[in-house]
Amino acid sequence: MGPVLHGLIKLQSVENRLRAAKSKLARCRRTVIFQENQLRTLQNGLEAKNEEIKLARIQIDRLELELKDRDQHIAKLRSALNMAKTNKEYAAILTELNTSKADNAKLENQVLDLMKNIEADEAGCGQIQQQIEEQKSELGRLRKDTEVKAAGYEAEIEQIQLEWDLAAKTIPPDTLEVFKRVAETYDGEALAVVDKENEKIEIFSCGGCFMRLPAETVNQLMTKDDIIRCSNCTRILVLKTGES
Ligand SMILES: [Zn+2]
Repeated sequence: MGPVLHGLIKLQSVENRLRAAKSKLARCRRTVIFQENQLRTLQNGLEAKNEEIKLARIQIDRLELELKDRDQHIAKLRSALNMAKTNKEYAAILTELNTSKADNAKLENQVLDLMKNIEADEAGCGQIQQQIEEQKSELGRLRKDTEVKAAGYEAEIEQIQLEWDLAAKTIPPDTLEVFKRVAETYDGEALAVVDKENEKIEIFSCGGCFMRLPAETVNQLMTKDDIIRCSNCTRILVLKTGES
């Protein structure tokens, strides 16, 4: 290996640090997005409950109007009952009266059930509202915290980027393109260190995909400064050094 391959090893170590810093930045921003989503879920839940309460109120109004009408009808039946001229007539009115009363009781129960639901929903709304307030202040804290942290990571990234640019200058442009392309494919891992499978036998493999490598490749790496890529995974092969 010569200056180009050694340069690539240096570049790879900077690339690793750059990616690590970038993912720290992304992670800390994701925390805020996650909290924002939770807040939105709570707000949607509150809205849905309020809507349910509104609908239940409308239904109660409707039922109460119906009850009023029915009460009037019952009052009429009562006076008709007093005026009944025959037993048969009396019995018929009485039956209708009892049926109407039973129907009214059912409606009254429906109203009571709806009121209970509203009460429960209102209690639920109170709880959600409290959670929303907590979440909001938590989010405020988190945003401030994240801003500070993100600024730190951004400065770190800028610094490492300078190092990266410096390390990249030592690499011929076409080789640098290959490095970048393979790095994109393997989440930053453009290089693969040649592994010796066994101390005694000269059998080598790609440290990226574990595919067996011909001894000739290893010889070439030892004696030359050529870019040799694993025929299986396309990573750029390097030998183990103190630097990597
Ligand atoms: Zn490979």
